[in-house]
Amino acid sequence: MSEMCIGVDLGGTNLRLAAFDGGGTTPLAHRKSRVGEPRDPDTLIARIVEEVTALAPASGRVPVGVGIAAMLRDRRGTVANSPHLRWRDVDFGVRLAAALGPRFPVGVYNDVNAIAYGEYGLGAGAGAQNVLAVYVGTGIGGGLIVDGRLAEGASNCAGEIGHVKVRWDDRAMPCACGGRGCVEAYVGGSYVQTRIRAELAGGAPSRALALAGRVEDVNPGHVDQAAAEGDAWALELWAELSTLLAVVLAGAICLVNPDRLILGGGLLGRTPVLRAHVELALAVAAPAALMEPLSVVDAALGDDAGIIGAALLARRGVSLIEL
Ligand SMILES: [Zn+2]
Repeated sequence: MSEMCIGVDLGGTNLRLAAFDGGGTTPLAHRKSRVGEPRDPDTLIARIVEEVTALAPASGRVPVGVGIAAMLRDRRGTVANSPHLRWRDVDFGVRLAAALGPRFPVGVYNDVNAIAYGEYGLGAGAGAQNVLAVYVGTGIGGGLIVDGRLAEGASNCAGEIGHVKVRWDDRAMPCACGGRGCVEAYVGGSYVQTRIRAELAGGAPSRALALAGRVEDVNPGHVDQAAAEGDAWALELWAELSTLLAVVLAGAICLVNPDRLILGGGLLGRTPVLRAHVELALAVAAPAALMEPLSVVDAALGDDAGIIGAALLARRGVSLIEL
């Protein structure tokens, strides 16, 4: 029997943990609580230690992988910035490793990288060696597995595909990262929602409005349904957004030559017409030689992908923190 390992998902809203053995996707035990307040590093580190201890057996080595909603600076879990936790320049990984002690070797990973690795190991990417996973939810995040290894990069930002610039003129849209013209600022769910409501309020003719009832209630799902019914405005908007996303994806595909592209996230999950447009645009934007070996699939592990991936990374000894 292989050793137990624990995956932790520290997000802006929830702290989730699960214990795994063997390598299956089904957790032996699950724990979930609100991050709540206070959310300073000392408080959250103490809570993680408490939860890990509660899940772990009485003795033996238990690797712990933490996926955190943060931009990291290195392989030692130093958080450069986490808007969700309101942390800046926090030596989180080293402090957590010291608090957990040598029985619990710990690795800290970007949350989207952990999600991508979970899908690679045990989900929609299983069997592939080169995986590009892109999540279009509120924002856009990505993770990359190259030749069977998670690409973490020089400052642990590999996979940050949402902030590739697609516009750079004076009217380029401002992005949550502080930059302008990022693909996220055009295709990220919250931006798409804001734009469709503004355009419909401004008189854009679309069935999406009738489907929702009121402008304030229109969401991308309504626009997708309108597009499915042949609505010209909806189809034009989806064509524009899918082209922007496909051009960025094609760049990554040319660089990595993946055999699997995993698409996930809340926006693409409820807009099948938009997702189909992305695939069509991708076939135009990327060279045939790179599209041939590539299969485009939906994310499969749902909410557990991040804890599965973090646990798997720690079990495999990826970037464990040495004190
Ligand atoms: Zn950005």
